[in-house]
Amino acid sequence: TTVYAGQLLARIVDNFEIEFEDKGISCSFINNIAPEATITVDPDRITQVFVNLLGNALRYTPAGGSIKVLVDEEGADLLVSIADTGPGIAADHLAHIFDRFYRADEDRSRETGGTGLGLAIAKEFVEAHSGRIEVSSTVGEGTEFTVRIPLDNADHASGKQR
Ligand code: ATP
Ligand code: MG
Repeated sequence: TTVYAGQLLARIVDNFEIEFEDKGISCSFINNIAPEATITVDPDRITQVFVNLLGNALRYTPAGGSIKVLVDEEGADLLVSIADTGPGIAADHLAHIFDRFYRADEDRSRETGGTGLGLAIAKEFVEAHSGRIEVSSTVGEGTEFTVRIPLDNADHASGKQR
């Protein structure tokens, strides 16, 4: 299925707006991608990827925090960055967070629920679309997940000369 990347992301983020607001988290959405840029994907699975990432941002970011979603184009790829001001993930945990059933902090995990599958599924689905998912995190500052998925026709989508 071919979908407009910017539209898909806008809709997904929109669906989280009320939950962010209820928890006292501010959310900004910056859409820098050309409106005609498309990706050919399984829309349910790609939606699941971003629902899992935004769900984590919502779950792990305390009230008063903020989440920034950026949608852009990088070379031939759609680039989506989801950055939060949550607790961050320690370096020794960071290497394992995409493993099935892995949860970084057992005490926090108990009170926040979850099974530890969200990121494993996200990684599997992104990679099934020839994409990549990366994380960078600083304890006490926050976490940023970056997803790259090939655009259908990068030259067309951007309107830029290459
Ligand atoms: P679920 O299966 O419901 O998604 P989960 O959220 O625990 O459960 P994952 O989404 O796979 O599982 O995340 C794995 C672990 O990575 C989490 O338990 C948490 O410790 C850590 N983590 C993930 N996202 C964040 C984030 N944005 N900020 C801080 N820690 C995070
Ligand atoms: Mg999760």
